[in-house]
Amino acid sequence: MTTNQHLSARRRQANDATFVIIKPDAIRRGLIGAVLSRLEPLQLEIIGAKVVHVSRELAKAHYHHLKVKPFFNQLLDHLQGKLHDTPYVLAFVLWGPDAIARVRQVAGATHPEKAEPMSIRGSFGRITKTGLMENILHASTDQNEAEREIRLWFKSEELLHSDVLPRWVSVQR
Ligand code: UDP
Ligand code: MG
Repeated sequence: MTTNQHLSARRRQANDATFVIIKPDAIRRGLIGAVLSRLEPLQLEIIGAKVVHVSRELAKAHYHHLKVKPFFNQLLDHLQGKLHDTPYVLAFVLWGPDAIARVRQVAGATHPEKAEPMSIRGSFGRITKTGLMENILHASTDQNEAEREIRLWFKSEELLHSDVLPRWVSVQR
């Protein structure tokens, strides 16, 4: 291996890609800038970004692990912006050192009242009267989830320099 190959191998090992959605509650409340300004100090690269009109099918596929939950339909309505008259979300792929864990930490716990107060969800999230957690953003929890979600939401040609990402990104649908 040349020095450059060693360096690029280390670069690949040290970085991961994570998937983030700025949800309709944040968009409706004018919090896009606030969310991005909390994420920006992480100095991750934005390697994918787009506005997405979320179909029912995409919402179901994204939250498939929650389909048995009583709040599932409401959760789909929320992601589709039906609860906030906001028919789109912003979707990002962020890439860099320990991106998945660091974004989750800044995002905070799922339940806004249990989230660390200075986290994004702790600062801005809320629970509706029906018990739905409107928690501002989605962020992948681990590498398997990040892989699945990036494949679901992005085509490889929509990502910058996908050559530095794990092989799965360029071998997709
Ligand atoms: N959610 C909810 N009530 C719950 C659990 C989850 O309203 O008891 C919603 C919440 O918006 C959450 C989303 O469902 O962000 C996905 O749930 P998950 O357990 O994957 O939490 P996350 O990964 O978003 O922290
Ligand atoms: Mg989750």
